[in-house]
Amino acid sequence: IAIITLSRRQARAELARSKTSYDELVRHIPVGVYLFRIRADGSKNFEYVSPVFCQILCLEADAVLRDAGIVFAAVHPDDLDSLKRLNREVAASLQPFRWEGRFIACSETRWMHIESDPKPQPGGGSLWSGVITDITEQRLAQEALRVAAVTFETHEAILITDAKANIIRVNQAFTDITGYRPEEVMGRNPRILSAGREAPEFYAEMWRQLLETGTWSGEVWDRRKGGQIYPKRLTITAVRNEQGQTSEYVAIFSDITERKDAEQEIRNLAFYDALTMLPNRRLLLDRIHLALSVSARSHHYGAVLFLDMDRFKILNDTLGHDYGDLMLVEVASRIHSCVRDADTVARLGGDEFVILIEEVSTNAGETSQKIALIAEKIRATLAAPYWLRGHECHSSPSIGVCLYRGNEDPVDVLLKRADMAMYQAKDAGRNAVRFFDPAMQHAVETHAVLEADLRRALPHQELRLYYQIQVDNERRPLGAEALVRWMHPKRGMVSPAQFIPVAEESSLILDIGHWVLETACRQLAAWDKHQQMRGLELAVNVSAQQFRQPDFVELVAATLRACQVDPARLKLELTEGVVLTDVAGVVAKMKALKVLGVKLSLDDFGTGYSSLTLLRELPIDILKIDKSFVRTLDQNQNDQKIVQAIIGLGANLGLTVVAEGVETEQQSRMLLQHHCRYQQGYFFSRPVPFP
Ligand code: C2E
Ligand code: MG
Ligand code: MG
Repeated sequence: IAIITLSRRQARAELARSKTSYDELVRHIPVGVYLFRIRADGSKNFEYVSPVFCQILCLEADAVLRDAGIVFAAVHPDDLDSLKRLNREVAASLQPFRWEGRFIACSETRWMHIESDPKPQPGGGSLWSGVITDITEQRLAQEALRVAAVTFETHEAILITDAKANIIRVNQAFTDITGYRPEEVMGRNPRILSAGREAPEFYAEMWRQLLETGTWSGEVWDRRKGGQIYPKRLTITAVRNEQGQTSEYVAIFSDITERKDAEQEIRNLAFYDALTMLPNRRLLLDRIHLALSVSARSHHYGAVLFLDMDRFKILNDTLGHDYGDLMLVEVASRIHSCVRDADTVARLGGDEFVILIEEVSTNAGETSQKIALIAEKIRATLAAPYWLRGHECHSSPSIGVCLYRGNEDPVDVLLKRADMAMYQAKDAGRNAVRFFDPAMQHAVETHAVLEADLRRALPHQELRLYYQIQVDNERRPLGAEALVRWMHPKRGMVSPAQFIPVAEESSLILDIGHWVLETACRQLAAWDKHQQMRGLELAVNVSAQQFRQPDFVELVAATLRACQVDPARLKLELTEGVVLTDVAGVVAKMKALKVLGVKLSLDDFGTGYSSLTLLRELPIDILKIDKSFVRTLDQNQNDQKIVQAIIGLGANLGLTVVAEGVETEQQSRMLLQHHCRYQQGYFFSRPVPFP
């Protein structure tokens, strides 16, 4: 017994010792261990749970041993069903199993892995020994890996190198973009991808930044395996290990060919004319700016040529815009053929082109000569016939030139001057080249100011009508000529010789002419009330534009009617300018006026180009010899002959001849000798206002 007792005690001690070392052992394995018993009557409980078991599930061992339910209560609600189902199956089959699911441990969701091996027990029931492992970290890592793997296979190319820049991994997009399969690039340096367009300094700077900041991004040109060069947007990031050393470089890039193309397209739209592909105004202004600053440094002269195609609108209107477009394209290419590649040919819009010729010479004279030659070459080239889809078309350019040196004159001033010179070329009959000169500018500027002031003249009642008497051979007054005057608030009295031409360039002349006609008619009506003046006639000057108004005849008729004036007392003075075009129409209109009863007078005769035939056709009553012949009558034999001829001509055509500008008694006497009975001039009276 003693031996048995001893051996029992020994055995118990032995057991206790082995349990201690077992516990000790279990404490050191990082997994929880348990024994779970199901009895024959169906009751169940944990028979043993290791300290790690309790720790990872955040439960007290005593509580677990007392009530197995609290372990099940800790299972995440979403995973509880799967665990219960498994338990039922295993209780029947007693097969070893594994389960993964979530527990709520210390109010934190944790992933657990359970592995168990149920063994049947003698007398019914089963004993399940199992281990439980917290696999949360592993799960997260797996998840991260999965995400990383998906991310790696994105549409952007990814290339990973080791610290020595040898390629260790690439993705599918890399192959798609570069054309290289992974095995072709493994272990190689990424520089095999380069198109070699960037300078060595570019890469030096890239590496400097990469080493300093750990990242670089920018655009580079690469070459595909097939040889094609393409732009890519590249970001390189250095991956550092825990010691702070670079372990890998990750390069991510995408093919930006399409974006580059789109950018180029946008640039083209913004800076180039879509029809001719020439630089547009914006780009031109840029280039001129640049040219001026270059000139300021080099002291070279350059030139801006402003070019406008003559009568282009007519071609556009008659043949259609298609032909107009064809012609402009042809014009663009012809201009190009006349200048150097370095020169800028731009289209401002419509049929206006500007040519910038830079760095010609340091000498002004030499520059002018060279530019004149170039401009003339352009003029001649553009004046040659155009063949547009089988149609022969004709046009020519008017070219204005403005030279520059340095950058003192702003760009818009240069362009304006060249434009002004271009208008001079148009005025000179088109198909011509004109250089800008300051006198021209002065004239244009005063002209512009005059026009602006003239617009206010009528509403501000600054116009007056003066009257100059006309007499017969016995110096009896026949009547007078009405002459308009402008009382300018600052300049004083402005002569019609100065402002009528300005008014004629716009519709201003119509308003002025109407005012003159009306005022003159009212004057005639006023004269009616005076005994001595009742029979006087009044001559009124009519400008060509005024006469050309379609309703001119009605206008005259209406005015006469309104003022209740006898039409026979109104004389309209027309110049030869009126009959330059559409003779038949003009004659018809003149006849209509004569039907009204109005008399017509041809003013300034001898200064224009009227042919004798024309004179015969015109239904006029009076011929006025221009004062330029009268002025020199007493000195110049030729003028005497001309005056004599005009008087004879008038007599033969049955016209009344009036001499104007008679200043001296001698002139008057000579005219009388030649049978010119009607005269007008300072000798008799200056034009005077009527009180
Ligand atoms: P015009 O119709 O030939 O008028 C005659 C011009 O000769 C007037 O100049 C008159 O003042 C000037 N004159 C008269 N006698 C003499 C003289 O003895 N010696 C000199 N040297 N000149 C003399 P004005 O008034 O300056 O008019 C100039 C031109 O302006 C006119 O030439 C006419 O063409 C135009 N004009 C004047 N008034 C009007 C108007 O109401 N309507 C239009 N459309 N034109 C007008
Ligand atoms: Mg006149
Ligand atoms: Mg005259």
